[in-house]
Amino acid sequence: MKFSKKDTYFSGLLAERGRPLVIAGPCSAESEKQVMQTAEALQQLKVHLFRAGIWKPRSRPNSFEGVGLQGLAWLGRVKRELGLRVTTEVATARHVEEALKQEIDVLWIGARTTVNPFAVQEIADALRGVQVPVMVKNPVNPDLALWIGAIERIYHAGITDLAAIHRGFSSYQKSKYRNVPVWQIPIELKAKFQGLPLIVDPSHIGGSRDLIHPLSQRALDLGYDGVMIETHPNPEEALSDAEQQVTPAALAAILGKLQVRKTNYDDAELVNRAEELRLQIDVADHDIIGALARRMALVEQIGEYKKLNNVQVLQLERWKEIFRTRADWASEAGINPAFVEELYKLIHVESIREQTAILQAGNPEAEPEEDTLTTK
Ligand code: PEP
Ligand code: MN
Repeated sequence: MKFSKKDTYFSGLLAERGRPLVIAGPCSAESEKQVMQTAEALQQLKVHLFRAGIWKPRSRPNSFEGVGLQGLAWLGRVKRELGLRVTTEVATARHVEEALKQEIDVLWIGARTTVNPFAVQEIADALRGVQVPVMVKNPVNPDLALWIGAIERIYHAGITDLAAIHRGFSSYQKSKYRNVPVWQIPIELKAKFQGLPLIVDPSHIGGSRDLIHPLSQRALDLGYDGVMIETHPNPEEALSDAEQQVTPAALAAILGKLQVRKTNYDDAELVNRAEELRLQIDVADHDIIGALARRMALVEQIGEYKKLNNVQVLQLERWKEIFRTRADWASEAGINPAFVEELYKLIHVESIREQTAILQAGNPEAEPEEDTLTTK
């Protein structure tokens, strides 16, 4: 696949109204009045595209599953009366046909559809011979190949006006995010397919209003092209995703605060490249620290377990095994095993310290705890 940066539908939108590309509108179209009211406010904000879900894929049945076909007519009204371009989610060939009948400008494929190659292929087949831009959300699970595969299926049906939407990945682990971002996946996608516009959906990543601005800024700093933000005239009353929707006024405030950095390299090209790399290093370091925090939480649990069973902290066989295996893993991953061994000495010291503190908690005779890692 090859994507051009110029003369595409999305580059046209950007040229017309500037960066970042802003897609906004309610999670779901709920009533004609709600759709028109939101669209009028968003037209004032000069958003590039108006979004609204008509068919809503929900985790559990009996949740609000969208207004269906009648909602498409409301989007048609937004288009005709307000001159806003409109987009909606399609999950089946029938959705595609109905959306095209109403001349919906852009279609998107949702995260629950991207995971299923049969469903994506069905949509691709329905798109053959049609010229409509399509945005593909990442699959629910953190699988870059599956995301690329979905984009390829649409591309091979002849659609070259494509964009990718990063909406985060579902995780069983507790997290402040509704869907963890795993930034390295979209970054890898962007590195592989330069020219493919990348849009962040901070509403579905964060799952809460207060995360929308920081997530959008982070994405723009990573070179994303746009944002998709769920907007509702009365978010608390929304029939779906109430906690993450913002009012048009709140959207205006978020957009006003966003800092858009230069994308075009001038004479400072080398400096800019270094900046890009540093931002990616920040992301990797965030991941390292997150992994360390998870490891320390497990260490705490094993400390409690040893205490309960009256077992000593240091288990030499395990200690040796850790050093051997981690050094091997490092070699397999193509990094210096000696460096990883050094790192594990520090990690292990901290793990022993933490477990010792647990075993000795409440013991008045215990040696005062010493933070062996603090240098003075
Ligand atoms: C949506 O955009 O409203 C939606 C259903 O998103 P996702 O497919 O990312 O869950
Ligand atoms: Mn939603």
